[in-house]
Amino acid sequence: MPVFRSALLRFADDGMALFDPDGLLAVGPDAQGRQRVLAAGAWSDLALRFGSGPVEHLPGRIIAPGFVDMHIHFPQTDVIGSPADGLLPWLENYTFPHEKRFVAPDYSAQVAQFFIAELLRNGVTTALAFATSHPASAQALFVEAQHHQMRLITGKVLQDRHSPDGVRDDTEQSLIDTEALIQRWHGVDRLGYAITPRFAPTSTPEQLRGAGELAARYPGVWIQSHVAENLDEIRWAHELFPASRSYLSVYDDFGLLRERAVYAHCIHLDEHDRALMRDTGAVAAVSPTSNLFLGSGFFDYAEADRVGMGYGLASDVGGGTSFSPFHTMLAAYYVGREGQAKRGLSLSPQHLWWQHTAGAARALGLAGVVGNLQPGCEADFIVLNPQATPLLARRTAQAGSIDELLFAMIVLGDDRLVEKTVISQAKYGSCA
Ligand SMILES: [Zn+2]
Repeated sequence: MPVFRSALLRFADDGMALFDPDGLLAVGPDAQGRQRVLAAGAWSDLALRFGSGPVEHLPGRIIAPGFVDMHIHFPQTDVIGSPADGLLPWLENYTFPHEKRFVAPDYSAQVAQFFIAELLRNGVTTALAFATSHPASAQALFVEAQHHQMRLITGKVLQDRHSPDGVRDDTEQSLIDTEALIQRWHGVDRLGYAITPRFAPTSTPEQLRGAGELAARYPGVWIQSHVAENLDEIRWAHELFPASRSYLSVYDDFGLLRERAVYAHCIHLDEHDRALMRDTGAVAAVSPTSNLFLGSGFFDYAEADRVGMGYGLASDVGGGTSFSPFHTMLAAYYVGREGQAKRGLSLSPQHLWWQHTAGAARALGLAGVVGNLQPGCEADFIVLNPQATPLLARRTAQAGSIDELLFAMIVLGDDRLVEKTVISQAKYGSCA
């Protein structure tokens, strides 16, 4: 049974950070052989029970929950950093031409390999990811995630109109392919399927209706899409679906708002929309680096909190500019600053970190499963080295509180801070 001794970060149910400067994390296999957290807390409280065997001592390091990325596009790994005037030109000039290549299983497999390695290098252990409209792309990502025993959710994109040849799919076949992928992959090992309409403007009503029927037939399956990111996109959605009250309502009208439904952006929502998100259990994947990069706008934290709708953080690579959760958390801080005038206070370091770990897991319906290191959680964690760069070492050494320590890492951190990423293994009886 592996026991680790180092500083330890985890979260209470209310989202508050729990930090033990000298902590103990004990991990052991469950009935299926998967590694789970057996105990987590202060070394002085737990050492008598768990510290008598071999202990991996990590002085100067911090063990923290693996990050959860609620929205990322694996085929856009090579689109990251493409200049464009906004969302729609960016899709047309960069994203769609590139996504055509994923019709080839070999190419999909090669990018999937790089993508998963990049997530893990950055400390991301759970992701809800878009593939492309080609079933081969989703298949390739499932295979690679399974190889790493990773908890990953993805789905073939549905887009049967307003899309160029090579990425546009066929309405009937797209739904057949979706159901076949659900049956092949959902619930296998740690994998999950997400029904994935790209966004309302690129799906016919027939395709959205079919997606909603699948969502009702498979309630454990996730749904992922985009909503209310950009004003031109919103106008377009209104033109295409004039009967729906709002862009978000289009999804509701087709049965695509429910628990486990994750909508990227949710920037330009009104009060009715936010209440609809709350009442249906659908959640927002807040994607601040992407929103700043494409000039889309700012997620309204104050209103989301006031109404009580769920949310968590996401990179949205390749509209987003980084795989690093530290960059995403810092961008979320900037976005929160923008809304500060309304609310009078900014996002705390603990709340930023929670949004990318336990909070994101809760939004995905995976509270107590991933994103935290409380007893019973699957043992996905990262080892952080606050001495990774001279400036990090100097600044974190002067941190006088948990908030100061977390914030120094959010502002100065990147992949260099993540010394090791550990995935809960089912097969090997060890989590190393
Ligand atoms: Zn996206």
